[in-house]
Amino acid sequence: MDGSPASRPRHLMDPDTFTFNFNNDLSILGRRQTYLCYEVERLDNGTWVPMDERRGFLHNKAKNLPHGDYGCHAELCFLGEVPSWQLDPAQTYRVTWFISWSPCFSRGCAGQVRAFLQENTHMKLRIFAARIYDSDFLYEKALRTLRDAGAQVSIMTYEEFKHCWDTFVDHQGRPFQPWDGLDEHSQALSGRLRAILQNQGN
Ligand SMILES: [Zn+2]
Repeated sequence: MDGSPASRPRHLMDPDTFTFNFNNDLSILGRRQTYLCYEVERLDNGTWVPMDERRGFLHNKAKNLPHGDYGCHAELCFLGEVPSWQLDPAQTYRVTWFISWSPCFSRGCAGQVRAFLQENTHMKLRIFAARIYDSDFLYEKALRTLRDAGAQVSIMTYEEFKHCWDTFVDHQGRPFQPWDGLDEHSQALSGRLRAILQNQGN
């Protein structure tokens, strides 16, 4: 049996899980989890080459204090996985996140991502967020911190939602069906993000 990583089927996301968690309609309540789909590319002679074996998704781990488990935000779960990949520091990599909520500041994600990028100057990061996580009162500071650390921060549009559906979801051949208001919500959130990033301050 061939046990190489390429021959192993990749774990895919349930379609309902994707549609519920990535829907960018802010009036839908109850989305307490953060899903993060990621892909990695390697710079080769000026071209970004996808690394198919470094594609996947994860979500935050809930707290389970009686068992001594303090939980982990999705972004930090991701950063925890990277060392095991043993990427070559002499090469340049680009990581892209498609994340259901933009990163927080209060629980440390933005700061940890900044530290990671400072320590790993061979890695670039692009973040496409479905929604802005304004439950964290320092959400604007989080977005500016990430931008100042060199990350490219954007709001997901139809193109990114479709890409995630095609790439990370167990769609069984069904094409991506945009939900009502996808473009309008995306444009409104992009406008908010632009204003946040233009605005200085904390
Ligand atoms: Zn966080």
